[in-house]
Amino acid sequence: MARRVLVIGLDCAAPELLFDRWLDELPALRALTRRGRHGVLRSCDPPITVPAWACMTSSRDPGALGVYGFRNRPGHDDYGLALADSRAIHAPRLWDILSGRGRPTVAVGVPPTWPVQEIDGAMVSCFLTPDTRAHRYTHPADLAPQLEALVGEYVVDVPFRTDDKDRLLADIEDMTDRRFRVAAHLLETRPWDLFFLVEIGTDRMHHGFWRFIDPEHRLHEPGHRLEGAMLDYYRRVDRRLGELVERAGEDTAVLVVSDHGAMRMDGGVCVNEWLRREGYLVLHDEPATPRPLRPEDVDWRRTTAWGEGGYYCRLFVNVAGREREGAVAPAALDRVCDDLRAGLQAIEDHEGRPMPDPTVAHAGEELYGERAGVCPDLLVYFGGLHWRSIGLVGTGSLHRLENDTGPDDANHAPDGLYVIAGDGVAPGPGAPRSLLDVAPTILELLGEPVPGAMQGTTLL
Ligand SMILES: [Zn+2]
Repeated sequence: MARRVLVIGLDCAAPELLFDRWLDELPALRALTRRGRHGVLRSCDPPITVPAWACMTSSRDPGALGVYGFRNRPGHDDYGLALADSRAIHAPRLWDILSGRGRPTVAVGVPPTWPVQEIDGAMVSCFLTPDTRAHRYTHPADLAPQLEALVGEYVVDVPFRTDDKDRLLADIEDMTDRRFRVAAHLLETRPWDLFFLVEIGTDRMHHGFWRFIDPEHRLHEPGHRLEGAMLDYYRRVDRRLGELVERAGEDTAVLVVSDHGAMRMDGGVCVNEWLRREGYLVLHDEPATPRPLRPEDVDWRRTTAWGEGGYYCRLFVNVAGREREGAVAPAALDRVCDDLRAGLQAIEDHEGRPMPDPTVAHAGEELYGERAGVCPDLLVYFGGLHWRSIGLVGTGSLHRLENDTGPDDANHAPDGLYVIAGDGVAPGPGAPRSLLDVAPTILELLGEPVPGAMQGTTLL
């Protein structure tokens, strides 16, 4: 089959915004939904960018990949975390599979593709790229100067946790504009059967501007001059998306996908402070000021469990014979997890009210068949993810309304979205699907066999 597939990934794009609220304002997206099918695309657990795109492009869940977050524990003998980049993904991704079959891929900005990979085709690495001026971020290497001749400096990401919203808006618009210009250029000048673009600006808009579009956000100000900024941004993205679809031609199947959705964030729960109060975590000294939990500060012999901060909490039990200075008998692990779960689920909000949605604490074995690498003992979604996890100790309180890493309005929601249009796609409403279904769908559209290790099923 000579068919080609164009994938436009909009990081964090939420079905309730793009389908329910703004579809009539986004003509290119609306046209695709009428030609094909659209629906909810369930993210992985956790619904976090780096594992989610890796799962989508490999059709393996985080347990199979051994990647449980933006950062991971490298081993049980190590209490710290290390960043997961492209080197952490050992399962073949779409372009690895297609490279062996003489079907070139162009991949732009797909997390995690830093460090950049040698593939059959072209690659521009993702938002994890530390500095495009100091590091190679394209394959082939001589692609970078061509792109820079076109758009000037290529921008992989913007610092989005800032109160300077006007600056942030301008920076995101500028970054997105450059990326879509680069994409349009590659789409027309490079051979490809699969073109996979991910725009991270949509995610940055949600984290920076959610307060302006959500009346339930605690910082919402009706009539604020930035109220329309997010929709205006999506209109720009929609125009760019329409241009790419048009340039790709009619024989190209098109998917628009997101790795997770978005929701308002109410604040953060200081999980390690809670563990300390409940006697699960013991430090050598009382911190004088709030600070990150450092392994050397922990009295491991008297510590049962510790947690990590982030949009969700990874909670680890300090198991004897497994952790370096383990203190919990392996036979007690299940009971400790049950006790932790009951306590975590009873945590109330900062005003002593129930959490907006229930706190859920999943054990690793409930989520994944295989648990490669170091799987957290519990994945905790505070308040149904309306509250994030704060790993600091010495905060003096269980709750923080201000984010420890800078202003951030939104958390990730489990429901992302998909739109699929092309020959062989029956139009009509689409059932909720999993992001694991995306890679098998693309291979089937391309007439390629789907590897048996892929966990999803085709959307067709
Ligand atoms: Zn994301």
